[in-house]
Amino acid sequence: MLRNRFYKAHIGNVCFPRVRLTGPRTPIHRLLNLAEKFEISNLWIKRDDLICFGFGGNKIRGLEFLVGDALAQGADTLITGASPLSNHVRAVAAVAARYGLKMVAVYWGNQSEDYSGNYKLVRMLGAQVFFTGSTVRTSVDREMEMLALKLKNSGSIPYVIPRGGASVLGVVGQFLAVREVLKQFATRSIKPDVVVLPVGSGGTIAGWLLGSAWYKAPWRVEGIAVSKPAPESKAEVMRLVRDTEVLLGIKSNLAEDAIIIHDHYIGPGYGIPSLAGSAAIQLTAIHEGVFLDPVYTGKAMAGLSGLRNVQRIKGNEGVLFLHTGGQPGLFVPGQFA
Ligand SMILES: *Cc1c(COP(=O)(O)O)cnc(C)c1O
Repeated sequence: MLRNRFYKAHIGNVCFPRVRLTGPRTPIHRLLNLAEKFEISNLWIKRDDLICFGFGGNKIRGLEFLVGDALAQGADTLITGASPLSNHVRAVAAVAARYGLKMVAVYWGNQSEDYSGNYKLVRMLGAQVFFTGSTVRTSVDREMEMLALKLKNSGSIPYVIPRGGASVLGVVGQFLAVREVLKQFATRSIKPDVVVLPVGSGGTIAGWLLGSAWYKAPWRVEGIAVSKPAPESKAEVMRLVRDTEVLLGIKSNLAEDAIIIHDHYIGPGYGIPSLAGSAAIQLTAIHEGVFLDPVYTGKAMAGLSGLRNVQRIKGNEGVLFLHTGGQPGLFVPGQFA
């Protein structure tokens, strides 16, 4: 049984229960052909899609701390929720399987006929699945609380991971990714001037902003929104940064107007393919043999290309693109425009 296999990780002055699901580092390599296409002299990609557990992706970094916390509290069941396309729910279900925990997935909308992509994987991982029957996203939060209460009343110890996985403990995992990347560039003479990454719930960019400020990284961070308008995203990111500072006992002096999020690349909406996103997926596959995903990284790459076109990113700048995973979404019908 792996149930009690968490350890105490010291970060700053604080100690966190943590499990290890990632290796020591994910690869960084150049995208020489895309660099030529975009007329950028130095373009790298950080392959968090290759995190070696449960089809990888950025969510695994945060889950090391969330599941550590759940195990430390003696939980026997994980409850989380989101859209049926969710990478987060799939990642949680995989971790539950590994640690011998029961898994309950709550989705908004109605039971899908379509067993594909992440939803198929979640079923394969043995999760119990509920649909709220409402398209309102917050219906998931209510249902999760109700299920947790029911389980408590029947003697179980459930642990609820917030919808989409955006929580302060999750941000800590992203914060540490910055330290990892700084180490990887420590011995290289050329370093990135800008990091481009997708923004959904904002936990990932919050960790990158706080980590970059705290470890004095030489780059700025430019987020590409895939779901919410920039002002809404920025407010949420600021909140997550502040809460994480409190949790870690550190202070970064990051101001809200230092948060850069572009919302021109969302297309028709969250989880709906955009022409620019699909073109970016195609371009990256054809020129690099690297697969992006339709919900996040395709649109983020479209953003990188767009920012280069408008000279927001200069040709002589070093650019690091964060591949946050999500490729199971490529196998959902209709996820390619
Ligand atoms: C969740 C997710 C993101 C966005 O991360 P947030 O922390 O929600 O902003 C980006 N890419 C992929 C593949 C994801 O699953």
